[in-house]
Amino acid sequence: MLINLHSHLEGWLRPETAASLAREAGVPEPPAGWARALRLDGPADLTAYLEKVAASYPFFRRLDAIERIAREAVEDAAAGGQDYLELRFGPATHADDDRGLAEVVAAVARGMAAGSAASGMPSGAVVAVLRHHDEATNLAVARAAAAAAGEVVCGFDLAGDESRFPRHDVHAPAFGVAAAAGLGLTCHAAEAGEAAAVADAVRWLGVSRIGHGAHLVDDAVELARAADAGLVVEICPTSNHFTGAIGRVADHPGTAMRRAGVRLVLGDDNPMQTGSDLAAERRVLVEELAWDAAALDALDRASVDAAFLEPAVRRALEARLEA
Ligand SMILES: [Zn+2]
Repeated sequence: MLINLHSHLEGWLRPETAASLAREAGVPEPPAGWARALRLDGPADLTAYLEKVAASYPFFRRLDAIERIAREAVEDAAAGGQDYLELRFGPATHADDDRGLAEVVAAVARGMAAGSAASGMPSGAVVAVLRHHDEATNLAVARAAAAAAGEVVCGFDLAGDESRFPRHDVHAPAFGVAAAAGLGLTCHAAEAGEAAAVADAVRWLGVSRIGHGAHLVDDAVELARAADAGLVVEICPTSNHFTGAIGRVADHPGTAMRRAGVRLVLGDDNPMQTGSDLAAERRVLVEELAWDAAALDALDRASVDAAFLEPAVRRALEARLEA
């Protein structure tokens, strides 16, 4: 199965859509074309990676464009054989005086609902607060997410540059609002930060899932703690290579995490920027990390179990697992 539990909306901008939106805004095409402009050149660090993702931000300055990009993301995921897509985005990045947080969240939800209706593939939106935004902004994002919680908006996340903004305690109020609204909780942690960031995120934010967690394996005590707590880690091997969290994709710590008893699910993080979608990430598990059928089966079961799904959709995916 292809259950995509860690993917950013900004990582799905079609180059053709970028070109058409740019034409409408009178922005000249980059010399090598939009596909090249959006794609990462090679492995660097998290800061450089996020700068490349930010190259997509100008395309999110209209609500109809945001809705279109969200719809196309779901359609493209379905066309790529995916069975479920959880798409995360930080509304505060795309809101301004003309577009409020609630309007941005609603535009993404509308687009995703339309994409799911057209493709038949279920999807869910995960609203993210960003590490470099102030507490008041992130609390306002949490309130917008809580107000929209329902059929499409299903989760809440903390994203951004962990190397420069490592604290979790300051985001506790926002996560409290999201938890009270029944949203599933996840957090990017130990991607650029150290292993202890995972337990810190659980302590302050109450998350059940961790994004990346690549450095969790650096500390045996923290690794065992995560396994004992039943934590789910969303792994994105190719992304971790591009952010410099791991030297080679073949060195990805997913196998070590799995052997330590940590439950794993898979994501493609930013497929446009890395050039690797979820099907390719699953091939990485088999071809580079030598995962066998039992390991993939455990991944599928953890994915259906840990996804921020409506009960009816979860039951349908569970039925497919057993078929
Ligand atoms: Zn991410």
